[in-house]
Amino acid sequence: MECIFCKSINKEIPSKIVYEDDVVIGILDIYPATLGHILLIPKEHKPNFSELDEKIVNHLGIIASRLSLLLVTNLKAQGISLVIKEGVLGGQRSSHTLMHIIPRFENDSLNFDLLGGEEQKGKQTKTNKLYEDKEIIVVEYPTLTEGHIAILPKEEFSIIMKVPEIIIGKMFLLAQKFVKKIVSGEENNNNNNRKRGANIVLNTGIDQPQQTVSLHVIPREEGDDFDFVWDVRQVDDKSLDEIVDKFKGNVKKGVEEQIEERRDNKKEEQEEEGNKDSEKNYYNSYLDRLP
Ligand SMILES: [Zn+2]
Repeated sequence: MECIFCKSINKEIPSKIVYEDDVVIGILDIYPATLGHILLIPKEHKPNFSELDEKIVNHLGIIASRLSLLLVTNLKAQGISLVIKEGVLGGQRSSHTLMHIIPRFENDSLNFDLLGGEEQKGKQTKTNKLYEDKEIIVVEYPTLTEGHIAILPKEEFSIIMKVPEIIIGKMFLLAQKFVKKIVSGEENNNNNNRKRGANIVLNTGIDQPQQTVSLHVIPREEGDDFDFVWDVRQVDDKSLDEIVDKFKGNVKKGVEEQIEERRDNKKEEQEEEGNKDSEKNYYNSYLDRLP
């Protein structure tokens, strides 16, 4: 197999692994935007995010949130940017879909502005609601390109690490639904067969466009005048190994502690609410209700 990411997954080539489970692997980018930049890669080989199985998309979102927390605790990151590029027109360069998890620091000179510059500020208040359920709302966010949308939890959360995992998973599932519409041309009465890609971006802590966390889906097409790009940094092997060491054990411990904590909270909730659906049933019925 020629795919370099599949080779990493199969351990045919060495990589700096910070996280691994049955579904995804997290490795340090050796050409990072900032030190600690993680590539979160589904183990199944699919060229595009839109092609991933829904359960994998859900999992990807949850693990990204957990790794974000660990980047903050392990590396003292002041913010996180999550970026997925769909299709060549979305700026994707690899043949295997992946998510960039980029730790952000003050004055890191990255520009992941989602507000479309000063002159656009305030414009996003004139929004139409595209979808709503009891936990999530999707609105038009007409700032970067035509069809740009934002997916927000209804309850306000200041940073991604505070959003319950079940909601994070759903936000990414919704993002995938909208990306599918964009690339299939179904969205926005796109009847002139424009070829499109998309970017999926969530900024938290730094470059966060609203008080509450929001996941953005930005349609891309040939000749649009913007891109999510970054200059790569030269890093030595030793610096990367030091980060891997910080994650060793810490990932497992961090994640397990989080799960335990959430389980306790959940137990309390369930005791309060009595015969509420189990998380699994709820998740399945949620998939049926998606637009
Ligand atoms: Zn692959």
